[in-house]
Amino acid sequence: MNLENKFLPVTGTVLPRFAGIATFMRLPYLEMDNPLIEQVDIGLAGIPWDGGTTNRAGARHGPRQIRDLSTLARNVNRASGISPFELCRCADLGDAPVNPVDLVDTLMRIEAFFKIFKEKNIIPLVAGGDHLVTLPVMRAIAKEGPVGMIHFDAHTDTWDRYFGHSKYTHGTPFRRAIEEGLLDPHRTIQIGIRGALYNDSENNWGIEQGIRVVDIDEYHRLGVQGVLKLAREVVGDGPTYVSFDVDFLDPVYAPGTGTPEIGGATTYEAQQLIRGLQGLNLIGGDVVEVSPPFDPTGNTALVGMTMMFEILCVLADARKRHGNCFK
Ligand code: MN
Ligand code: MN
Repeated sequence: MNLENKFLPVTGTVLPRFAGIATFMRLPYLEMDNPLIEQVDIGLAGIPWDGGTTNRAGARHGPRQIRDLSTLARNVNRASGISPFELCRCADLGDAPVNPVDLVDTLMRIEAFFKIFKEKNIIPLVAGGDHLVTLPVMRAIAKEGPVGMIHFDAHTDTWDRYFGHSKYTHGTPFRRAIEEGLLDPHRTIQIGIRGALYNDSENNWGIEQGIRVVDIDEYHRLGVQGVLKLAREVVGDGPTYVSFDVDFLDPVYAPGTGTPEIGGATTYEAQQLIRGLQGLNLIGGDVVEVSPPFDPTGNTALVGMTMMFEILCVLADARKRHGNCFK
């Protein structure tokens, strides 16, 4: 058996899909002290934490259910032809350590976990968790300077504080990331924004910083290809992170989430949008806000798993293109 085979998913023709230990995409699970980790190009990891959730909690259970629905994953993207496990060495690197009763401690633990990815030049592909988990991931990986971001969401997540002083919630990660110099607002596009506001000035801060906000009306005016053209112009050639809040989708497709907003995108549109990111300089991504307590059929976790696979395909292509595969 050659070395590369250690990083292939278990096929359903060898081990039945309902059997064995559930991992992301049925990949091998490597503990962080496993020497094989030095060879990993893309590390899939969970962040089972929803301490930033302001209303309906439950996303802490997301990684486990996404791993369960990963039993339905296969290897080749029919639309793009990308076979991520052939291009890159991928593995499930487990869950970031979290502390369910201490928010600040958890942010530090998550950052420390993803610093190991950064040190070992492993691209992170994350399953949340609520959207606050993106902040410590960015703290770990945006070391050489701020990154760009393509952000799919019903919400901008650039609010300032809750209850007068609380700076860290799933509604604030991208304001903090801009303030901390992790995220370049001029290379950030937020797609699918909709829903009622607390007040009519709520969205202005991000736009004033230079974020390109594409609300759902503009999204439908431009269409998928128009949005992709705009996104490519905004992020350019620089390092770019993809953050996918499952509430970008209409709750018809993804009801199992904390803050659903009607009038959202379809799953097919979302797949086309991610596939259209092929060729960009992508350096990481996440799928967040899958909340199993609100997802009795498991369909939202299936959607989350499938979007992770779509993101994995473009990440693997980017990694290959930038010449760092099979290091
Ligand atoms: Mn969000
Ligand atoms: Mn959202």
